[in-house]
Amino acid sequence: MQEINCPSCGAPAAFRSSAAVMVVCEYCHSTLLKDADTVKDIGKMSAVLEDYTPLQIHTAGQWGGQGFTLVGRIQLRYDAGLWNEWYVLFDDGSDGWLADASGQYMLTRRVTPAQSAAQLDGEALPRFGQLTPGTPLYFDKHRYLASDVRSARCTGGQGELPFAVGAGWTAQVADFRDEGRFLTLDYADGDPPAIYTGQAVTLGQLKCQLLREAEQIAGTADRYRGKAVPLACPDCGGPIAYRAGVASFVVCPSCHSQIDCTTSTALVLEKQRELDALKTSLSPGDTGTIDGKPYTVLGLMQCTDHDEEEASTWVEYLLFNEQRGLMWLVEQDSGWDRVEVLDTWPRMVSGTTASYQGQTFQQGYDYGSEVLYAAGTFNWRVRVGDRTRLTEFGKPARRLTRETSGTEIVWTLSTTVARAQVAQWFKGSPGLAEAARAPQAAASGTDLAFCRKSAKVYAILLAILNVPVALITDRGWITIVVGFLLLWAPIWLVQRWAGKD
Ligand SMILES: [Zn+2]
Ligand SMILES: [Zn+2]
Repeated sequence: MQEINCPSCGAPAAFRSSAAVMVVCEYCHSTLLKDADTVKDIGKMSAVLEDYTPLQIHTAGQWGGQGFTLVGRIQLRYDAGLWNEWYVLFDDGSDGWLADASGQYMLTRRVTPAQSAAQLDGEALPRFGQLTPGTPLYFDKHRYLASDVRSARCTGGQGELPFAVGAGWTAQVADFRDEGRFLTLDYADGDPPAIYTGQAVTLGQLKCQLLREAEQIAGTADRYRGKAVPLACPDCGGPIAYRAGVASFVVCPSCHSQIDCTTSTALVLEKQRELDALKTSLSPGDTGTIDGKPYTVLGLMQCTDHDEEEASTWVEYLLFNEQRGLMWLVEQDSGWDRVEVLDTWPRMVSGTTASYQGQTFQQGYDYGSEVLYAAGTFNWRVRVGDRTRLTEFGKPARRLTRETSGTEIVWTLSTTVARAQVAQWFKGSPGLAEAARAPQAAASGTDLAFCRKSAKVYAILLAILNVPVALITDRGWITIVVGFLLLWAPIWLVQRWAGKD
């Protein structure tokens, strides 16, 4: 440990990690650069934004049989969100990074150039410009696929860091996955990129101590992660609510402006063209109970597949529970699906077969999807016109979907849910009230109404044609009675049968 005094304010500061080259003064936010035996002040670092994370500098934990401490962090921002990279110092003096994106954590450690040369087996690493989601990378006997390719800007920092970083510093990073394995290529220092490998972790697995308490987070910001924050739309004044630190991108349900609530003041990003309000089964703000837990509808998107023969549309609802986080419900003409985003990717056994949790899934539909309408709150910046490629695997009842966009790949698992079940979950929603009462009768009711209408038309025709005959010959009455019976008896029977069901 090297102790110093801040040249700007005189406060004590320390370099605990021997790999750290800069430290941000805790008191005056000066960026202090370690330069041989002297310390240079290279200007102020922007303070980090309150993002409701439970982590803080000094948080300690265990990983791979070793203790560690968080000694620094940078906050990074890209087109669709904000995340933290915590600089981790292990007890043996080695270091690593803990990525913290809206409650999802990834621990990685840098692969040394010597190790990477051995594991790459003579292959050159791709340049950043050559990467798109889905690009394969062979490393350490594993075939990784690019899941996320993005440019991010540093918006603030704290503590010690192993490289000099200031406001406006940008990083080009690409994340790769192979099932639960995770690899990052970091092009911040140009080509060839630095390689980091690791995996998704939870704070429980890391046995984290010295976390910020909920009250402490609440004290700094008067709100905690996931709490609904009421706000007036900065454009039209209409009421909106966002979820602090979880879902901070709002599409105003009244005027459809895009609003960014990740900074301290809500900012209108873009005014979208006026859209007629879409009538949907569920609306932002609706609450329901799923698996005994309260869920709130945050946002909804209507999408289309642009099929040339028969285009279909469907509605995707983003739901939130404070303990469980986010989930999706999707409503199609054929019924409902419950959709979860997979942390561990399925393995592609062949070009058209995926394997997940010991089960194989054959490739099915492959189609494009475009967002037609969006309203409410999301955890990324949704835009009308956003396009995604969807590839389904397996049978409709339980299927995997690979969603590929220009910047990322996401795998989801969909399970069909009966409409009556969704109606049970959201009892208070008027859009689903009818389905909650009598899901079966509601469906056959429309068929019965059609039969009744037809029967009426035929009964009138029967009367017009046969009454004059009956009046003259006396024998037409039997035809009329038999005809009426033939028309109405099946409808009565179906009605009685449906009533008992
Ligand atoms: Zn200072
Ligand atoms: Zn508005």
